[in-house]
Amino acid sequence: MSTVTLTINGKEVTVPAGTTVLDAALGAGFFIPTFCHDPANPGYGGCRICVVEIKGARNMPASCVTAAANGMVVETDSPAVIEARRTILELMLANHPVDCMTCEKSGECKLQDYAFRYDVKSADFGGEKKDYPQDQSNPYISRDMNKCVLCGKCVRTCEQVEDRAVINFAYRGFKTKVAPALDASLAESACVSCSRCVSVCPVGALTYTSMAGKARVWETTREEKTCSWCEAGCLFDVVSKGGEVISVTAKAPGDGRPLCLKGRLGMELRHNSQPPAPMLKKDGEFVEVSWTEALGLDDIMDKLK
Ligand code: SF4
Ligand code: SF4
Ligand code: SF4
Repeated sequence: MSTVTLTINGKEVTVPAGTTVLDAALGAGFFIPTFCHDPANPGYGGCRICVVEIKGARNMPASCVTAAANGMVVETDSPAVIEARRTILELMLANHPVDCMTCEKSGECKLQDYAFRYDVKSADFGGEKKDYPQDQSNPYISRDMNKCVLCGKCVRTCEQVEDRAVINFAYRGFKTKVAPALDASLAESACVSCSRCVSVCPVGALTYTSMAGKARVWETTREEKTCSWCEAGCLFDVVSKGGEVISVTAKAPGDGRPLCLKGRLGMELRHNSQPPAPMLKKDGEFVEVSWTEALGLDDIMDKLK
């Protein structure tokens, strides 16, 4: 296997040829922020928050689409890099409803994390603001395109991982938004509710309806499970708060097969509801009885005692 050796923040790093500067830096323990980068679906380079300085380069390239090369000297945290990232964040926040206090994504939102890291509070460049209606038409997925940072991860995941191409960028310039064909609601589209798009969204634009208002992220625990409804054995997470299951969520594309609707519905029912007690008619009225009584097994159970 051929390798290349480069210097990142003064540290010599050797990686397989073809490795991106982003992966080389992350592998060497350096932090680089990303919005649009998806390890399961790489090579987009749209959000540009991952820019780095490369000695001799005319501008700052996006590290997620720049191949590491022999002798390259890279700075991931220089003053110029940090200034560029702050400007990108300011532009995002200038047209973003910063309602982290009530946002479902608060606590695991990349925009919130990076704004904190780079000390970007908010910015007002004037001009028009986005004011899209929320799409609650799908029973499982809530869409708030006012919070979308146009990273395109949901679009690429739906098209390239799920092979559905239900959503895409619509309109142009300031009006650009992610939407199903003809800007229809998700319920009117060919969406199969796999929720893969939700699993990759870095902000609160796509969230699970089942979790709305039930818990803050830091109050929840996640447990990985394998679906038992068919032989595919898809993985999913069961999300709980205080021991009570509040949702079943899909895995990101890099973390396993998707959970189909049958699996999700089955799991939500299985985890959320106790089987109803059987009823028997006694003296003209239905009353709850035990399963052994309903199945006529009481005599057998008595003999087994
Ligand atoms: S998407 Fe992120 S930054 Fe925006 S309101 Fe929600 S938590 Fe805050
Ligand atoms: S839920 Fe699945 S099919 Fe529907 S838009 Fe998202 S990725 Fe596409
Ligand atoms: S909805 Fe989320 S994943 Fe899709 S483009 Fe917007 S921010 Fe990115």
